[in-house]
Amino acid sequence: MAILPIYTYGAEVLKKTAKPVKAVSDELRELIDDMFETMYQANGIGLAAPQVGVSLRLLVADISMIEEYAETAPMVIINPQILSTRGEATMEEGCLSIPGVRETVTRPKLITLKYRDENFEEHIEEIDGLMSRVIQHELDHLNGELFVEKLDSKTRRDLKEELEAIKRGDVEAEYELAEK
Ligand SMILES: [Zn+2]
Repeated sequence: MAILPIYTYGAEVLKKTAKPVKAVSDELRELIDDMFETMYQANGIGLAAPQVGVSLRLLVADISMIEEYAETAPMVIINPQILSTRGEATMEEGCLSIPGVRETVTRPKLITLKYRDENFEEHIEEIDGLMSRVIQHELDHLNGELFVEKLDSKTRRDLKEELEAIKRGDVEAEYELAEK
């Protein structure tokens, strides 16, 4: 397994619409393992493939380090599609691709998600709580969107300098960042 450098705000790969995964190959399994290792090393709870420079519709999530969710199994999510949503929830979010920035974002509370797992088996599941939040955030990455784009214009203005600095590569994190 390997720890992969994380692409940050401004990187082209984070602006692209990622391509569907066609099959689970050994190469893809290795990427999944590397993504988990990279996420754990960075103390993240979710990571999308574009964040490690791979433009595929794949994400991993593990929220079990949070006490309340200790029993929640890690998830490998391939080609996700939100079929429906319910409710609304407001939560603070951060992103490994935007080190140091945390802001409150409102999103649907519950999602009905169609996806394939690491064996390429299809599932349709209702997902609530923090896992719903993480999946929605990571799914945005597959569509070239970042959570800071969901913020109101004032908050975005306040963040402008910080984001510009990240874009320039003028940023530090406790994990490896991809070179600009
Ligand atoms: Zn993110």
